[in-house]
Amino acid sequence: MQKATSLLLLGSLFGALIYSVSASYNRKQTYDNQVVIRCSSISRVQYQTISTQPGVDIWAIKKDQIDVRVSRENMMWLRQLGVHCTMLHDSVEQLVQKFEQKLTVKQEWFEEYHKYDDIIKWYEELADQYSNIVTYYPTIGKSYEGRDMPAVHITGSTAPNTFKMYFQCQIHAREWISGAVCGYIVNYLLENYGNNEDVTKLLDSLEFIFIPFVNPDGYAYTWSNDRLWRKNRRPGTPCDGVDLNRNYDDHWSENGSSNNPCSETYHGTGPESEPETQNTANYFKNQNAIIGAIDWHSYGQLILRPYGWTSEDSPDEPRLKAIGDEMRDLIIDVHDEYYTSQKGIGLYPTTGTASDWFYSDNANLNNGDYRAAGITIELRDNGQSGFLLPPDQIIPNGEEIIPAVMYYANNLLENPLKMV
Ligand SMILES: [Zn+2]
Repeated sequence: MQKATSLLLLGSLFGALIYSVSASYNRKQTYDNQVVIRCSSISRVQYQTISTQPGVDIWAIKKDQIDVRVSRENMMWLRQLGVHCTMLHDSVEQLVQKFEQKLTVKQEWFEEYHKYDDIIKWYEELADQYSNIVTYYPTIGKSYEGRDMPAVHITGSTAPNTFKMYFQCQIHAREWISGAVCGYIVNYLLENYGNNEDVTKLLDSLEFIFIPFVNPDGYAYTWSNDRLWRKNRRPGTPCDGVDLNRNYDDHWSENGSSNNPCSETYHGTGPESEPETQNTANYFKNQNAIIGAIDWHSYGQLILRPYGWTSEDSPDEPRLKAIGDEMRDLIIDVHDEYYTSQKGIGLYPTTGTASDWFYSDNANLNNGDYRAAGITIELRDNGQSGFLLPPDQIIPNGEEIIPAVMYYANNLLENPLKMV
């Protein structure tokens, strides 16, 4: 496979178009005969059947509508279930190729996506440059394949027990915008400390913790083999990978996940069975006091508050709803992009997720009287490009999220959630 750095389309090899985008991107998986369809009015029972079916890959969920990647054969299977769907992308292969043509080498860091090794180097350099407010921990533990999972702490405060904000990124491998926007937020905080009054004030009274890679193996695999890989890289029979966002110790294996290793929502052999889940959960529990925690995903433009596992309201529902709704309003003011603010469950349950766990008693046992306001954010877009979000959307997506992040942090700092 090609290794040259060039902007040119090199040609066709064994039927697969190969683009040279950077020295490091190299795809082996092809997606011939696959489509993305948008299905509506799905009942909970139908959702349970669809979401646990191997070969059926749910890309996004909104209200009672889902985007699903399937083979053309599986479209028939859905039709037999009585599900109504329309075509969103009639060739996944072409959608991926279109994205790959945009992976050119640019001058500015945030104008392109980067591979794992380069992102690690970027964080190390930032930590050196801003050593007055950054503490860089090279690893909170190793991934299944032995990659480091770093943590980046940012604060101007020297007071003991400074409140903390915990953001984790790239838990789902193919959601590249997640890691890119996390980097954008880090960079924004660092560049503005000492220059922007709001950022300076916030960082002088709060500590941000970023985990740039919850799933480093999966992310590396999306650069080397399969751009649309979601899970971690735990080998399995007959299929590889555990969905880390179904592997946390909160209502694990209840009906919002799958026990089939070939499902995209396979929850693993037990709660925290995966090193990546264990590392992040242990790290979280050893901090105090975390008052806010965001798990960054794409796509669908959603701000999801507890719970994902039940439609019952959380004890903090009025407060969390107000926070989510205000974040939505702040986001729309920037580039006119609408994000829906809602409970995680929407219509369909998800169990063993990071953000429900952040909010749970399990996560907050050592958190003093405080409870982390765990939320999930689904970044751009609404399905036009899906996971294949062009790199020229990194900066606008970062820009529109900043006021919401500042608001979330300030609001919780002023009035942290308490255990009841
Ligand atoms: Zn995700």
